Amino acid sequence: MEKHQLFIDGKWQESLSGQFSEVINPATEEVLAQVSKANAADVEKAVASAKAAFTAWNLTPVAERAAYVEKLLAGIEAKQEQLVATIVAELGCSYTFASQVQVPLSMNEMRATLGALDQFEFETTIGDALVIKEGAGVVACVTPWNYPLNQIQRKITPALLAGNTVVVKPASDTPLTALLLAEIVEEAGLPAGVFNLITGSGSEAGDYLAGHPDVAIVSFTGSTDVGKGLYTKAANNVKKLVLELGGKSALIYLPEGDLDSAVKKAVDTILNNQGQTCSALTRLLVPKSEEEAVKEKLKAYYESTVVIGDPTKADTMVGPMVSANQRQTVLDYLEIARNEGAEVLVGGSGIIDRPGFYVEPTIFVNVSNDMRIAREEIFGPVLVVIPYETVEEAIEIANDSPYGLSGAVVGPEAKARQVAIALRTGNVYVNDGARNPLAPFGGYKESGIGRENGLYGVEDYVEIKTIFM
Ligand code: NAP
Repeated sequence: MEKHQLFIDGKWQESLSGQFSEVINPATEEVLAQVSKANAADVEKAVASAKAAFTAWNLTPVAERAAYVEKLLAGIEAKQEQLVATIVAELGCSYTFASQVQVPLSMNEMRATLGALDQFEFETTIGDALVIKEGAGVVACVTPWNYPLNQIQRKITPALLAGNTVVVKPASDTPLTALLLAEIVEEAGLPAGVFNLITGSGSEAGDYLAGHPDVAIVSFTGSTDVGKGLYTKAANNVKKLVLELGGKSALIYLPEGDLDSAVKKAVDTILNNQGQTCSALTRLLVPKSEEEAVKEKLKAYYESTVVIGDPTKADTMVGPMVSANQRQTVLDYLEIARNEGAEVLVGGSGIIDRPGFYVEPTIFVNVSNDMRIAREEIFGPVLVVIPYETVEEAIEIANDSPYGLSGAVVGPEAKARQVAIALRTGNVYVNDGARNPLAPFGGYKESGIGRENGLYGVEDYVEIKTIFM
């Protein structure tokens, strides 16, 4: 069984804790590997290494920093198949989703940011004053398991380009993709200490890292609860926080819209990645008068699309949940939904009788927006259908959420655009509108602060200095 070390100061090193934790394949429940469980002393070493490397990296010309990031991109391109296989093995998403979305997303976003970097104004003048944007220092990058490569990419690409050095702490369920990325960093020859990777528990190593006085920015993607707790950590020495947190996004289907398209978007959102996507459109809002037609279409599309099984197989669409814990969370919500009076349209049986952390994707109807299944993020394959009487009411329901990450409107173009403007979310998709890798991604309200991707992403990782001359 492979035992992985930590990557600190450009070298693979034993953890000072001497402890390891197991990484489980969620489709088979077999142990895939053991990874080091970093302790506070390891975090100290990683932060010290990043701190020591900072000044030289920050003074390295932007074009040279970009050339290193280009090498990382080339390394990811060269190891695509290995990355896909690792993501499928430790996360359990389908091979199709990993090879068509998870890995290409990272490459596209890196390419786009690198391509646009010459438009970023690292220096400007205001009168006689020179305004410089530069690295802030050491960035702690704490990431979740749902996109094991891209969650890290979205932090390190802008952070490194801006002149920061990083300490990455990936999720305990999916550290193997991060370790493969560290190998790519090693092969790309980044100066020692610019990129450090520690594996280990969030509540121990992650917590210690986030509170470390030599960390300038905590960039965290994960649950809103943990994100809220980071304010206290950051307050000690006034750190900057970049937070990408949870979501409970609404898809509003408007009268006279393309119902087939709305149905496909809503069902796909809970099947792809088993619904473990922060921006998943898990509330489908439909006109009361069309509820029955929508139900029929949802059922037909679901039944013709769902293929649950071994995620390594090309025709599988739905694999297992990432862990037994995450499956239990979904099972608990199925129970909550039934107790709240929601009605199962399709799915609903819970555990699937096979090894692995499988759960049946489920659509609930007769849901009102005050039910827990409409308010709380489930982070699994569960869609709720909520009827509305007027478009104004649909907007009110969509906005009546503690979250504000994403949303979608399917309907006549002009009306759909008006509704999109009224939504209090960081992203909205109108009809066939597609994600653009340079466009900012992030949330309103409890979905976070800051924006990822492209030049908006770089902006989150700079300090601004004015030199009066
Ligand atoms: P999580 O439990 O909050 O964990 C995220 C990361 O934080 C993991 O690396 C975790 O380590 C670490 N962590 C846990 N407790 C910590 C603490 N006290 N201090 C510092 N770090 C700590 O979230 P998750 O279950 O992995 O991911 C699912 C959540 O992420 C969902 O809520 C989802 O919406 C959100 N998400 C948001 C976005 C976005 O862009 N807005 C994208 C993807 C996911 P361990 O793994 O060791 O616990």
